[in-house]
Amino acid sequence: MDYITIALILAVVGLLFGSFAGATVWRLRARQLVEDKAAGEKVDGKEYKKLLPLTKATIRADRSRCLHCHHTLAWYDLLPLVSWVSTGGKCRYCRQSIGWFEPIIELGMALFFVVSFLAWPNPLTTTPQVAVFVLWLLAGVLLAILCAYDAKWFLLPNKVVWPLTVVATIVAIIRLATAYNTLGALVNLGIAIFILSGLYLIIWLVSKGRWIGFGDVKLGLALALLLGNWQLAFIALFAANLLGCLVVIPGMLAGKISRQTRVPFGPLLILGTVIALLWGGRVIAWYFTFYM
Ligand SMILES: [Zn+2]
Repeated sequence: MDYITIALILAVVGLLFGSFAGATVWRLRARQLVEDKAAGEKVDGKEYKKLLPLTKATIRADRSRCLHCHHTLAWYDLLPLVSWVSTGGKCRYCRQSIGWFEPIIELGMALFFVVSFLAWPNPLTTTPQVAVFVLWLLAGVLLAILCAYDAKWFLLPNKVVWPLTVVATIVAIIRLATAYNTLGALVNLGIAIFILSGLYLIIWLVSKGRWIGFGDVKLGLALALLLGNWQLAFIALFAANLLGCLVVIPGMLAGKISRQTRVPFGPLLILGTVIALLWGGRVIAWYFTFYM
């Protein structure tokens, strides 16, 4: 298969996984609200009523529903992007606006699949190499769910963080097993884990969980396992903070963000990791050419 055919297939597969990721975000939120309510926490009544029908569907018959009229959607309502464009972003049954969330996560996922393939820093010839690439795409789907959830509700659900950690651990094991210098790779991984997770753990311990959530510590561990390299981990952290500044400073200038505004760090760290894995190696090579 040639390069362009693979990229096109990945775009379509990415759209489908984006659709799955978008639906999963709402289902996770619905279950979270039910659990919070059962635990006696205060939940937003309006949001609870809106999302409750999503928890009633069994896994076998788990089909997406309209969040407004709760109409069960037909297969032609579930075509990623196509359905949204064909109805102008409205529900076919109640004409309420569906919003931009679905098309953005679907397009984002398609873009992630294609760009990951085009910018992949390693050859894709041996089975372990292809396995790491496929696992990276799978991790990307889970990362997209976490990104959206954290951005909306400031929480990284364990139901997604644990599967992500399993995928990332398999990636790390394949890398270690195929490394020329296993011990060196293990030390490298250890430093990466310290940079992306250990530092957060220290901040979490020192602030007794007030400055950052433990979710960031766990997410950092999974991201470090995916990167497996301390230099890339450093670039990921640097890129996350740089992106944070690019979001926060204009927001502050426009008066939309104050010192009290919570900025979810999860999406920034995830984006930083994607940048580091796909382009970090080139940044490091460039640095050593010019400054060493
Ligand atoms: Zn509707």
